[in-house]
Amino acid sequence: MKLETFSWEVDGDGIAHAVFDVPGRSMNTLTGKAVADIIAITKEVATNEAIKGLVLSSGKASGFCAGADLGEMGDRAGSGGDAKKKSVDELKKEQFEAGFSLNGTLRKLETCGKPVAVALNGLALGGGLEVALACHYRVAANDNPKIQFGLPEAKIGLLPGAGGTQRLPRLIGIQAALPLILQGEPFDAQKAHAMGVVQELAPGTETVARAKAWVKANPKAKAPWDEKGFKVPGGVPHKSPGVGQVATMSNMMLAAKTYGNYPAQKNILSCIYEGIQVPIDAGLRIETRYFINTQQRPEAKAMIRSLFLSTQALSKGANRPAGYPKTEFKKIAVIGAGLMGAGIAYVQAKAGIPTVLVDVTMEAAEKGKQYSVRLVEKDISRGKLTKEKGDALLALITPTTSYDDVKGADLVIEAVFEDEALKAKITQAAEAVMGEDAVYGTNTSTLPITGLAKASKRPANFIGIHFFSPVERMGLVEIINGKETSEATLAKAVDYVLAIRKTPIVVNDSRGFYTSRCFGTYTQEGLEMLSEGIKPAIIENVGRQAGMPMGALEVSDSVGLDTALKVGRATAKATGFDYNEAPLGKLMAWVVEDKGRVGRKAGKGFYDYNEQGKPDRLWPGLNDQIEVKIDECPPALKKELTNRLLFRQAIEVSRCFEEGVITDARDGDIGSILAWGFAPYTGGCVSYMDLIWGIPAFVAEADRLADKYGERFRPGKLLRDMAAKGETFYERFPPAGEKAKVKEPA
Ligand code: NAD
Repeated sequence: MKLETFSWEVDGDGIAHAVFDVPGRSMNTLTGKAVADIIAITKEVATNEAIKGLVLSSGKASGFCAGADLGEMGDRAGSGGDAKKKSVDELKKEQFEAGFSLNGTLRKLETCGKPVAVALNGLALGGGLEVALACHYRVAANDNPKIQFGLPEAKIGLLPGAGGTQRLPRLIGIQAALPLILQGEPFDAQKAHAMGVVQELAPGTETVARAKAWVKANPKAKAPWDEKGFKVPGGVPHKSPGVGQVATMSNMMLAAKTYGNYPAQKNILSCIYEGIQVPIDAGLRIETRYFINTQQRPEAKAMIRSLFLSTQALSKGANRPAGYPKTEFKKIAVIGAGLMGAGIAYVQAKAGIPTVLVDVTMEAAEKGKQYSVRLVEKDISRGKLTKEKGDALLALITPTTSYDDVKGADLVIEAVFEDEALKAKITQAAEAVMGEDAVYGTNTSTLPITGLAKASKRPANFIGIHFFSPVERMGLVEIINGKETSEATLAKAVDYVLAIRKTPIVVNDSRGFYTSRCFGTYTQEGLEMLSEGIKPAIIENVGRQAGMPMGALEVSDSVGLDTALKVGRATAKATGFDYNEAPLGKLMAWVVEDKGRVGRKAGKGFYDYNEQGKPDRLWPGLNDQIEVKIDECPPALKKELTNRLLFRQAIEVSRCFEEGVITDARDGDIGSILAWGFAPYTGGCVSYMDLIWGIPAFVAEADRLADKYGERFRPGKLLRDMAAKGETFYERFPPAGEKAKVKEPA
């Protein structure tokens, strides 16, 4: 038997040992070749009489298997986008055989009449755990703290399609299995053992021997569900009222949490509910049907691409210009120890980088460091950090008022008030002591980088490094190139973001850059609706149901209504629009200037807030100013408002491409999800246009909205051109590496 991803040997007792070890990879995944090998192994074990049983294990220190190969799967996913060419039934029929191949094979292995055990020394996730669940016996290492088991498919818009939805509930009961499959959270070996997912724990050096011993001692192994009289632990929904209630509640909770936006979770519930009522062979076929249905949805392709492939690529620095040596940061100065500076100092120290924290007074600088003290104390009290490590982290932050301490820094991050003149002063003071190669990064959220760089003697070393609040929790950093920023400076900025373990996107200069500019359109559209007399609660509910993390009015409150008014006026001034006379401008001036309701920070804005700063209720006084004209939301209106809220953002994103603010589709998607929480099931703003709508349909709908509500929805030249050529953003704005490939002479 010729295998490419497994080694194979049979001992003197006829026990086969197959060691999973995909060549050239640090982790095993279920590539097409691995699946072909599992098919071959199954056939051999089932048909070769000399073989008495099988033990599976892994040749990788990292674990058994991380699941499906998402790179390969991403290419296949989303074929339902072509559903217009073929009916879903035709596609289902065509794809059933392919979709069932691993599922059917694992069932053959499980019923081959010979015992099969697996030794799990590290992680077994997704398809990796499903292979293990199809074995009769599972031994897990009890001495690897990094071991992880789980079925995380739902997190990227898929459902476990190799038996996971059928075997796990039959093994541990529906109630225990449902959250593991719906939420996809991993669990460790001890929990796996306690739940009965693995039968035995042993030191990592002994797992294979124990698995072999079990195989030898159990020549006639069967899965529990193949035993006569098998009953699902805890019962099944159609027979046991308790479990029936769990199924109903899960449905309701899912609807409340996801508003039906995630087809995978809906399908998982149906698949478990239907599959558990029939024998496992029928259950597995039901699972494959739901798996294919899920995989065909454009949401699946979008989520696999954005939430897994692109996030991973950008987190590894996919947008870093090549050819510059990697910078190791020995010292970084943060100027301005307020909300942002304090958070930035903390993430740097957490990454082990010596940090100088500068402010105008020692009191302000010390106060900035106290932010880290509080976070460290919290982690120590929760057992997440030892006192020694906490002290070492804090010792890396030096509060100061002196620019002498900035000398020798590889990088300076400026985070003082949003004031152009003040920022210019800081640039000059810092540059007076900075080394020749040191980079100056400003954390401005709105001021164009090229303008701020005018204060610099070395604009090539000047760049925007835009963090999000709270810094320690937000995973994204937006890097902004000014007109004169050099590639070497960009490479250093990317190295910095990777060093503090965040995900960088790289954009070009523009008012509000990429994220602030596009994010603002969501709140603006919500405010437009308010000024049209749509009941505030409708605006908020539709926003959340569209997949946004908060309603547009609540977001406006968190940003600060005074800030929104200021930005609205400044943007209007720059664009020649008469904001003050527009209904929206009047409404904002009334709320902020007449009523003094500036948002969450004041405990009052569009909402009233409780003492914990949580929104209590929408402010009833709002109704005094707006005349509520629409206070019911039938499905057609909900659809219309949803499209307005999402299109408004997507159109702005398309303008950012058109103006060269973003040049890589991945930056657009990942930025929109991580910076402002754009409906993750769409894969981000770009995939929303490319996949969920398709560019021609998106353009037609945007034109309709523009005719009805205003030019803010009108598609630009780029979108029209793409629609005419049948192009997607991912084709027109591919990753930098692929662009280079295109340019290469044949
Ligand atoms: P903040 O008011 O909390 O802090 C500003 C700090 O700068 C204060 O501690 C102040 O004492 C200090 N400062 C003022 N003048 C100084 C000087 N001459 N030398 C040294 N320090 C001086 O403001 P913030 O919210 O931390 O914002 C800082 C910057 O980050 C702004 O440009 C803002 O636009 C940007 N930003 C803010 C957010 C946010 O959510 N707050 C998000 C991204 C970016």
